[in-house]
Amino acid sequence: MNTSRMTRTSDFVVIGAGIIGLSTALRLLEEGASVTLLDRGKIGCEASWAGGGILSPLYPWNYVTPVIQLATFSMSRYARWVAVLEMATGINPEYQTSGLVILPPYDLNTAVSWCSAHAIKLRHQPLSLISGLPGIYNDRQENTQVLFFPEIAQVRNPRLLQALCIRIRQLGGNIIEHCEIRKLDTLKHKIHTVHSAQSEFHADQYILSAGAWSKQILGKHALNLDIKPVRGQMLLYKLPEQLLHHIVLQQDFYLIPRCDGHLLAGSTVEDTGFNKQTTPEAGNMLANRAEKILPQLENRLPLKHWAGLRPATPGNLPVIGAHPYLRNLYINSGHFRYGVTMAPGSAEILLNEILKRPQPFDTTPYQQGWNFSGQSNPGTSEKR
Ligand SMILES: Cc1cc2nc3c(=O)[nH]c(=O)nc-3n(C[C@H](O)[C@H](O)[C@H](O)COP(=O)(O)OP(=O)(O)OC[C@H]3O[C@@H](n4cnc5c(N)ncnc54)[C@H](O)[C@@H]3O)c2cc1C
Repeated sequence: MNTSRMTRTSDFVVIGAGIIGLSTALRLLEEGASVTLLDRGKIGCEASWAGGGILSPLYPWNYVTPVIQLATFSMSRYARWVAVLEMATGINPEYQTSGLVILPPYDLNTAVSWCSAHAIKLRHQPLSLISGLPGIYNDRQENTQVLFFPEIAQVRNPRLLQALCIRIRQLGGNIIEHCEIRKLDTLKHKIHTVHSAQSEFHADQYILSAGAWSKQILGKHALNLDIKPVRGQMLLYKLPEQLLHHIVLQQDFYLIPRCDGHLLAGSTVEDTGFNKQTTPEAGNMLANRAEKILPQLENRLPLKHWAGLRPATPGNLPVIGAHPYLRNLYINSGHFRYGVTMAPGSAEILLNEILKRPQPFDTTPYQQGWNFSGQSNPGTSEKR
């Protein structure tokens, strides 16, 4: 018998092991389901590894309510989620409430009224009154007025992915790497089998969480789903010690300090299809912007330069829930710029849908991506 093609069974097959697939698989395992998790490459090596780990939308007032609701719900679960993972695995994902400073230009009135409507702590104050930013933005401009969000947190996403992977294995999850799903077989409005080059997999239910590749895998079953890759490039520096103690953001460019002196500078937002190459132009642009904010970086070469493909959706509105007609298929994808932020919250609301439990808020907007038709999609009302 050719065992390499043998059909393997479990309650759930999850396709794609980025942060979204891993969080979903973990939640299913916690409920006692058996789960097989398949990834084309190594676990968590695509967008989820490449991301910065800021746990908040940037300039949140630019997004529609369903994006903010999901992000807020997810952010509220993060500290506990990460603490439990750390306790179980011994891996510290370095969750820290480092706060975020927005340098000018910014729209003060919009920021203040949005924050007061959403009960978000915000201080508008001179840069010089914020400790933990030595030398930033050139000392001569220290009286510059900035926006300070003391409660915004960050996580070190590669470590979080490692912890998730260990926890899933501890709970009996079957993770299969280097297993690219190439074909979905359907029968009577259900997925019957999914095929890789070497094997076939059969389950009661299937979850698609393949990030930027989700639409490709669905083929004709993608309907009007609008998920496409958008490249983001990032630089990594290593300083002898941690210089900045807050995330710094200026006109969509950010610096994210880690505890051990590593510093991320990012990122680009480029519509280049499935091209994940880095470019010298973007590298130079990111380095120039980093040095302008933090002159101590001058004459210091970045340690690494990488790119990742975000699963972009109109308005950054992810698609979470049941497929419109394939009755045992669910999707959790299209988190675009905020998949790290939204991961635990998205897993929770998908689980609620599968188990027919009440939702914490109206989750119907995450079904609208199937019907995207340009003008009518509510996600296109994003103001940026
Ligand atoms: C530069 C950059 C900075 C970012 N910064 C932040 C940030 O600060 N905060 C934040 O919240 N978010 C950030 N993001 C966004 C975030 O990283 C993404 O939204 C998130 O990682 C998406 O997760 P995912 O699991 O859906 O996709 P991915 O991590 O891309 O995972 C999809 C997985 O599916 C697998 N796959 C694909 N095709 C197949 C197939 N045929 N068969 C089997 N497996 C398959 C892939 O190998 C991959 O492992 C950033 C992204 C980038 C690129």
